[in-house]
Amino acid sequence: MRIRTLTGAVAAVLVLSGPVVGGQAVAVRTADSAAPPGETRVLTYDAGRAGEFASAVDRGAEIWNDSVDAVELRPAASGEPADIRIVVVDGWPRTVPGGLGSGTVYFGRDAVADGHSTVRIAAHELGHVLGLPDRKPGPCSELMSGASAGPSCASARPNAAERAEVEKKFERAPAGLFM
Ligand SMILES: [Zn+2]
Repeated sequence: MRIRTLTGAVAAVLVLSGPVVGGQAVAVRTADSAAPPGETRVLTYDAGRAGEFASAVDRGAEIWNDSVDAVELRPAASGEPADIRIVVVDGWPRTVPGGLGSGTVYFGRDAVADGHSTVRIAAHELGHVLGLPDRKPGPCSELMSGASAGPSCASARPNAAERAEVEKKFERAPAGLFM
């Protein structure tokens, strides 16, 4: 249940499902309240098990940091639990999301052996963590076209639509607080 705006002096009987601040007037929230301030959500990642691809992961994270405002990826401090873990494996790269902004990236060597760009792989898999689905087949200009763009595609930047999609996902305030 949501009570957005109370106006006028009419006595009203309110049934509130949430906690009530004892004895205080219910604040009036005007209809033209500004949108929630765009806070940057910091997500930590741990590339300690990314093996030979650790620097590619750093580069992929930097690309996302340069590309969007809503999220910042930063390496987890030593001993700090990370939102995102990157693990080098044999096989094909894949990401197992743990919810928006968290998950495990399996940085598969097979794609690199096939000639795919390590930075593009890193940025693509981080794109999954940031909530983007695969869009295959697709052109090299789309990060989420992934391997379908071919091994010669070294573009590791999300395009405008992909950037906007991530901004939108993370700019949403915690569930239910804002429309
Ligand atoms: Zn993918």
